Order: sequence, then C-alpha cells, then structure tokens
Amino acid sequence: MSSFSVSRFSDFGLLPPILDALTREGYDTPTPIQSQAIPQVLAGRDLCGIAQTGTGKTAAFALPILQRLSQQPVRPARGTCRVLVLGPTRELASQIAQSFKSYGGRLPLSTAVVFGGVPLGAQQRQLAHGVDILVATPGRLLDLIDRRALSLPDVQILVLDEADRMLDLGFIHALKRIVKLLPRQRQTLLFSATMPRTIAALSEEYLNDPVKVVVTPPATTVERVDQAVTFVPSERKRELLATLLSASHFERVLVFTRTKHGADKVVRYLSQAGIDSAAIHGNKSQPQRERALAGFRAGRTRVLVATDIASRGIDVEGVSHVVNFELPNVPEDYVHRIGRTARAGAAGSAISFCSDEERPYLRDIEKLTRLPLTVVAAPSAMRIASGNAARRTPEHPLPQSRHARPAQAHAGRRGAAPQRPKHASSGGNRHRTATTVDADPLPAFLRRPLGNPRGNSQIKSTLRTARS
Ligand code: AMP
Repeated sequence: MSSFSVSRFSDFGLLPPILDALTREGYDTPTPIQSQAIPQVLAGRDLCGIAQTGTGKTAAFALPILQRLSQQPVRPARGTCRVLVLGPTRELASQIAQSFKSYGGRLPLSTAVVFGGVPLGAQQRQLAHGVDILVATPGRLLDLIDRRALSLPDVQILVLDEADRMLDLGFIHALKRIVKLLPRQRQTLLFSATMPRTIAALSEEYLNDPVKVVVTPPATTVERVDQAVTFVPSERKRELLATLLSASHFERVLVFTRTKHGADKVVRYLSQAGIDSAAIHGNKSQPQRERALAGFRAGRTRVLVATDIASRGIDVEGVSHVVNFELPNVPEDYVHRIGRTARAGAAGSAISFCSDEERPYLRDIEKLTRLPLTVVAAPSAMRIASGNAARRTPEHPLPQSRHARPAQAHAGRRGAAPQRPKHASSGGNRHRTATTVDADPLPAFLRRPLGNPRGNSQIKSTLRTARS
C-alpha cells in the first residue's frame, strides 16, 4: 500500500485548468484515496483501489487521467476511444461522465457516456468521430462493438469502477470479452467497495504489478451513520413508513425495497396517504429515472423509493434518512444503502424495518458491520399482527403521534394526508397525554433533524482529523 500522501491538489502538479475546476467545485483538500492514488496513476502505475462511493474515488482516477491525456494530445481515431471506464449502472456511468466533464471542462478533451435502455442511434453518432474518454456499462458497450460503432485498439487506460458490483450483476462474461479486445499494453485501474476472492482473481488477471490503496473498509461508513432497527410485521411496514414520514425532520429520505414491484407498491401507498414520492428502479425508462433523481436532488420530491441496483451511483447530498423498508439479503448492500446518507464524510441516519422472516438477514448484516443496531419499537398499533414480533419488541417505542394516525386509515382516501406532528423534532412533552405510551420515544438521532447540512466542509474536517 502506498504511503505517499499530499495535502494540497497543487502538490500533484496538475494542470491549471484542472486546479481551477477543483476550486470551482469547492475542493481544497484531497481525500485519502485521492492523495494516495493520484500520484501513482500519474506515474502510469496500475492500481487496485478498495473504496466505496462517497470517498472521492471518481476524482481519484478522473483527475490523473485528464492530466495524462492532456500531456499526449492526439486526436482519437473515428469509432475509438483513448480511455474506457466501465461501471455497473446507468446512474453511475452518467455520474462518472459528469465528473470528467466538470473537472476537464476547460481541456480540449471529449467525453461520452453510453448505457442501455435508450436508443442506440444517438450513441453511435457520438462515437463516430472518436472520443477521448468513454464511460460505459458493459452490455451496451458490447452492443456498440457488435454494430461496429466502436473498436478498442487505442485504449490506453481502462478503469473498472465498482468491480464487485459488476460481478454481482453478472457482467463477468461481458468484461472478459471486452478485455480481450483491449491492447495488452495499457494502464488498468480497478475500484471495488469490497475485496471478495473473485475481485482478487480479476485484479490478478488484469492488473500488472498494481499499487493497492485501501481507504474505506465498510465499517468506516457504518460508524458514521446512526442506525436503528425496528421489528415490524411485513404487512404493517407501509403504515409505519407513512407515520415516520409524517415527521418533518425526515427531510430527504431514501427508502429501499428489495424488488421493483415492492418499490411501486410503496409509492402507491404513500400517494394514498398524501405523501409525495417517486420510484427509481430498473423497469423505469431512463428519462423517468433521471426525472425522479432530479426531483429528489432539487428537493421537489422528499421521498425517493429505490431498489439496490438503481441506487448505485445515486450521489445526492443532504439525504437526511435512509429507510430500509426491506432488509437486503446481501449484507454489503446494507452498507451501500446506508452510505447514501453519509456522503462526502457527513453523518447520517438509517432505520431498518425487520420482519420475522428477515431476522437472518439482520444477523448477517450485524456480522459484517460488527455493530449491533439500536433497536426501537414500532408503535403498538403496528406490532399486533405478529405475536412473535410483539414479544420481542424492545424498550424504546417509536412515537405514536396523535397527529399521525396509522396510514391504514387513509387508504382509499386519496389526498388525505396524515398531518405532520408539529413537535416532531423537539421531543418535547407538550402533546403527550396520560394514556399515550410514547414516553421518551425515539433515540435522539431519529428525533433531531439530521442529514448533511455540513456538505464539503465536513469532508474537510474529517480529513483533517484523519491526518492529525
Ligand atoms: P465519489 O466517491 O467519487 O462518489 O465522491 C463523493 C462526493 O465527494 C462527490 O459528491 C464529490 O463531489 C465529493 N468530493 C470528491 N472529492 C472531494 C474533495 N477533495 N473535497 C470535497 N469533496 C469531494
């Protein structure tokens, strides 16, 4: 692992247009993966980076790549690219391309992005003149190659981003086909959130004497996020969600379901309860996904309901809460999910709804994170459906707001929104009656407004702490 580390972007010798772009972005300190990876990539080394999204890894490869391309100003030949970046999802690919454009906007370099789910024609036209940087999902890349819109003999640098996820999604055969089409003489950078044996094997096969940089073992994100679990029967989860969302400090909420169908059902239910939300998953068209994401990012939609695959690459600042409506059966997905509320070094808050059937998943998650989740109880009305769940319900009941009636009562009454409890974030006693059971209800982190009001300033102070 490299011990090389610098504390200022200007120390890397980056070109002035790149440094200017970083100033415009408001970055003044490299993140740990940036300070370790950038000099190595600039020096032409292969690199294996174990890092999650949220660590600044995109800039860790994009900045030195832009610099290297600028230093060898050749025009890409028709239907070719000089740098190929592969990522698992459309969202991630779009975001990577956007980063290249932001950091390299003032350089004479072209960037294109291609992914499935949209017509091929426009993408073919983009490639016709050749591009410097091509960001792609593996399937669509092969489609374009098969149609002779693209060939790869000029690729100097290959980046495999979120490699573990690409393998999870079954892209291994596509990857193998693609790598066979690349020149053997090239620089290869591989990034992965986890390092299972399959990734180690991939790294062994495709990388040449790589530098290894490990920055964020899953526990680091995990430790920054306050986490709770509440035991609730599956059939009561929707009303529990509506109750939680009736609290105004759930400002920007990402809800995860396991299936696309489940995501749509949650959105329909919330709409009946008068809570505006949007779904993002693989059955939605690309424009629909982009619209949903843009609305969420701009704060027009307070609640985004997502499946795991669609959520990859969602990089939205200020997500106040992640709600795991269903627990993922792959424990690493849990870490990715909750990481959405701890972007750029900020703290966040996550609550998981666990039914009896999901307890094995919870055990796997706690084994991976080595951190038992804080248990909070669902309001009593939501516990009764399952004897088991009721018996196991622990000490801290969720607040049963007098204002937020169980959302079931609203079903079928379109537009009848549960009112927001005015005291939601105060935790005060004002509205309590002698008969309510919500004495000292939620753990503090679920009561206070959270999220990421600190943005980039937090990443800076985190880095300072990490260095000191
Ligand atoms: P990534 O891990 O590439 O998904 O980046 C996570 C977030 O951190 C993105 O919103 C970036 O804009 C932001 N970011 C990346 N590098 C820095 C930096 N050096 N200082 C502040 N923010 C950064």
